[in-house]
Amino acid sequence: MKCSQGGNFSKGELQRFGNIELNPSAGVLNYGQGLFEGLKAYRKEDGNILLFRPEENALRMRQGAERMCMPAPTVDQFVEAVKETVLANKRWVPPPGKGSLYIRPLLMGSGAVLGLAPAPEYTFLIYVSPVGNYFKEGVAPINLIVEHELHRATPGGTGGVKTIGNYAAVLKAQSAAKAKGYSDVLYLDCVHKKYLEEVSSCNIFVVKGNVISTPAIKGTILPGITRKSIIDVARSQGIQVEERFVPVDELLDADEVFCTGTAVVVSPVGSITYKGKRVSYGVDGFGAVAQQLYSVLTRLQMGLIDDKMNWTVELS
Ligand code: PMP
Repeated sequence: MKCSQGGNFSKGELQRFGNIELNPSAGVLNYGQGLFEGLKAYRKEDGNILLFRPEENALRMRQGAERMCMPAPTVDQFVEAVKETVLANKRWVPPPGKGSLYIRPLLMGSGAVLGLAPAPEYTFLIYVSPVGNYFKEGVAPINLIVEHELHRATPGGTGGVKTIGNYAAVLKAQSAAKAKGYSDVLYLDCVHKKYLEEVSSCNIFVVKGNVISTPAIKGTILPGITRKSIIDVARSQGIQVEERFVPVDELLDADEVFCTGTAVVVSPVGSITYKGKRVSYGVDGFGAVAQQLYSVLTRLQMGLIDDKMNWTVELS
């Protein structure tokens, strides 16, 4: 789908996956004017396909587009395009229990612009790929390292939107962490350098007793759709959830730590290394709280329990 600055997106068309043409001075290539989304389609036992809260992705893309000076598809246009793309690629949705179809909507400044300015033209596209687990550990605990020098977001910056440059900013710390055997990096706020923010591609929760705490949304972390859903699921199960500033020290005596995201779903954290000190949370798999939340969320997403929240969209 294409659109000029200040205009509306017209209906798009299905195309075979392949290279796309871009002008060398496209806004996205020169000034990073790009946003993406990520969501998944699961196959049910009866063969139908379930999308999980696609309108939330549409809304988040619209908020991000406002920050990045880009026009965005309407919620209806976005959701319809996702449905159409998934239905056209139905055969790539894995059987129940064997993974999911990852859906990647992309919005970019595709028009040519030489001096720094918003691009004159925009392209919205969606591509898909079947996926399994995000971390090589699968659903086994992941090992994180706290990064205290490099930051992924600053107050007033773009950390709260899903813009492409945020991911370039984490590559250095993430690659160094992976080379040392860690699964990913946990970032701290860049002002006080002591409050938890998030992991390169997921949100974080800390469990202590019957309370789970997660960093509040304040512009520097991504408002994860899984995060929001897990908060609602936890509260519906009688678990108290606090959204607040979470000091890194709380990791030291937490009962459990887990991450949430479309790709990682709910991933238990087995250990966190901070300033050379390693804190472990058990090695056998999920802690009780993460296990409970993982189980409810994944059964909902796969259509194995009643969707009382009305979160899934069924396609046949
Ligand atoms: N934080 C970052 C930086 C991410 O890239 C993601 C993945 N989209 C998340 C958090 C989790 O968001 P969601 O639950 O919407 O996938």
